[in-house]
Amino acid sequence: MSTSTDSLPADTFRITPLSNAAAGPRRTLSAPLSAEITAALDASPDGEVAVKSVDVRIPLLEKNDILAERNRGYFLGRGLVALNLVSSPGAGKTTLLERTLDEFGPRTRCAVLVGDLETENDGRRLRRAHAPVAQITTGTTCHLDASMVARGVEALDLDGVRILFIENVGNLVCPASFDLGEQVRVVLLSTTEGEDKPLKYPPIFKSAHVVLLTKIDVADALGFDRAAAVENIRRIAPQARLIQLSARTGEGFGEWTAFLESLVPKPR
Ligand code: MG
Ligand code: ZN
Repeated sequence: MSTSTDSLPADTFRITPLSNAAAGPRRTLSAPLSAEITAALDASPDGEVAVKSVDVRIPLLEKNDILAERNRGYFLGRGLVALNLVSSPGAGKTTLLERTLDEFGPRTRCAVLVGDLETENDGRRLRRAHAPVAQITTGTTCHLDASMVARGVEALDLDGVRILFIENVGNLVCPASFDLGEQVRVVLLSTTEGEDKPLKYPPIFKSAHVVLLTKIDVADALGFDRAAAVENIRRIAPQARLIQLSARTGEGFGEWTAFLESLVPKPR
């Protein structure tokens, strides 16, 4: 039997702070935040409006980074771990989450924020009695940003929630630049795609804490070269933990759920 996983043991996994991570070098603010902006951010439950009204000159990504930090603090304060799931359309994010919610059931409370350009189909697919779900429709925007997440979270009952999944809009390009305030960024590559995706879209893979190789049950039928894909992932994203799984057959899924369990903050 071939092994379904190829990764570090769970206890060696460390979360590197994602602060301003996105891609490439850490962005620095063009100027220190003014006292007004700092105060407005502290006072307002909706940072976007406050920042816009105070200083419209804050460049888009800087503003996003500030709001992402707020989200991160909010999540940490609530004692939950937030994951940002990124992939091309059709790589299996929603299917992964359906099975994940079912396996955890009410035992570890999960919530989902799901982003798509249009339709609430994925939100509907993910609805479970034990897991609050909110759908964000972005219209023409091909990625989620930190302000959308802040607003989406307001629609969720996070009482008792330990894991928040944020399913990003299917896109491997600009989600790399938009920190959502997640602690863990998960990038999915499915066996229905090319083995060379990590070589073609390096920024998102370089920013990943975890890479999931999904749909491994159909790899052979599709002639997908798993060894080549793994080599490409390792080359571009040596920092990432790699988990290979199939949400349909459950192969490799135990490693994924054990990994998630290991992220849940311990009660103080
Ligand atoms: Mg989806
Ligand atoms: Zn975009």
